[in-house]
Amino acid sequence: MVKLTKLIDDAVLVEPGAKSQLRKRATLADDIFPDRDAAEEATKDNAKAIDALQDALWAERDRALLVILQGIDTSGKDGTVRAVFNRCGPLGVDVTPFGKPSEEELAHDFLWRIHMAAPKKGVIGVFNRSQYEDVLVVKVRGLASADVVEQRYEQINAFEKHLTDNGTRVLKFMLNISKDEQKERLQARLDDPTKNWKFNASDLEDRKLWDDYAKAYEVVLDRCSTAHAPWRVVPADRKWQRNAIIAATVRKTLEDMAPAYPKPDWKASDFQIT
Ligand code: ADP
Repeated sequence: MVKLTKLIDDAVLVEPGAKSQLRKRATLADDIFPDRDAAEEATKDNAKAIDALQDALWAERDRALLVILQGIDTSGKDGTVRAVFNRCGPLGVDVTPFGKPSEEELAHDFLWRIHMAAPKKGVIGVFNRSQYEDVLVVKVRGLASADVVEQRYEQINAFEKHLTDNGTRVLKFMLNISKDEQKERLQARLDDPTKNWKFNASDLEDRKLWDDYAKAYEVVLDRCSTAHAPWRVVPADRKWQRNAIIAATVRKTLEDMAPAYPKPDWKASDFQIT
């Protein structure tokens, strides 16, 4: 397990301070998970282990874990949540999707809605999209001035440091798919009646802006991979490789956090249940 997560991190971690070189990063992970059955088995095992660790995290009620999922349309954010957290009890995992901000949200600073959704002690929070939309879609579509966007990178770093210093571990995954794979997944949404509901014509507009998004992501990875909250770029063209990488990383992170069940201040032998 330790060897595997080292192999994964060597491939996916963005070293704080280093150039992320997103364009050179893999969308396939055949060298880490060559075998589909083995990868799916590993994900199931890890999902079970994550559930057990989450139980202790809840009992301990002292710290939280925040898992941030970012990626362009069809990159598999929802599928990741399903595969990695499907063994966890619904009380212990709090999933928040971030769509277009409401009027109320826009009336506050951009981190307001994010902070409100941060997981409380004992909980694993999962963000489907996040504060990073405010330097991605907002930048690419010109929804705020360049100056406003510019100051947000540091604000995000400071915010994540604040969370970390207050007991929340922050894990960030960018799901990296190729343009060809996105084409296939969008086509499936047109062809498969059970996927039609996922199709949104505006996704095609974003696809036209592929290079702009890639550039915006690269800036995010270059500037917001910090020692306290580094980015991981996950090869995501194969769903089972993506799931296996993320499940192993979440499990390892929780194991490192080592949540402990509180010791009771009584002895079981002092009680008799009649
Ligand atoms: P998803 O595509 O994640 O399944 P939606 O169809 O609800 O979910 O899409 C969410 C949309 O909201 C995306 O197009 C995303 O770019 C947009 N969005 C998220 N956060 C912001 C933001 N801060 N400002 C503008 N648009 C945002």
